[in-house]
Amino acid sequence: MTAPKTAYDYGECEMCDARLEERYIHQDFWIKGQLVVIENVPAGCCPQCGAKVVNAETGVHIAGLIGNAEQIAKAPRLAVPLLHYQTAK
Ligand SMILES: [Zn+2]
Repeated sequence: MTAPKTAYDYGECEMCDARLEERYIHQDFWIKGQLVVIENVPAGCCPQCGAKVVNAETGVHIAGLIGNAEQIAKAPRLAVPLLHYQTAK
């Protein structure tokens, strides 16, 4: 176990001014038609409206992850339910 880092202060929600709380979220991205999910992303989450923000350091780290095509190619695959907005007739 590594020592817990000092929680980052995300400040207040831009939408509703509630205090943002740090949570670990799943962040999803569509990259070239492919859904990529990053687990355990530290983010400031608004308990009122659900807005999520990441700090600059996290943003840079995410950019590095999703920019690494080789790593994406080697990552484990996830089967996800895919629904069609319009029901088939
Ligand atoms: Zn909010």
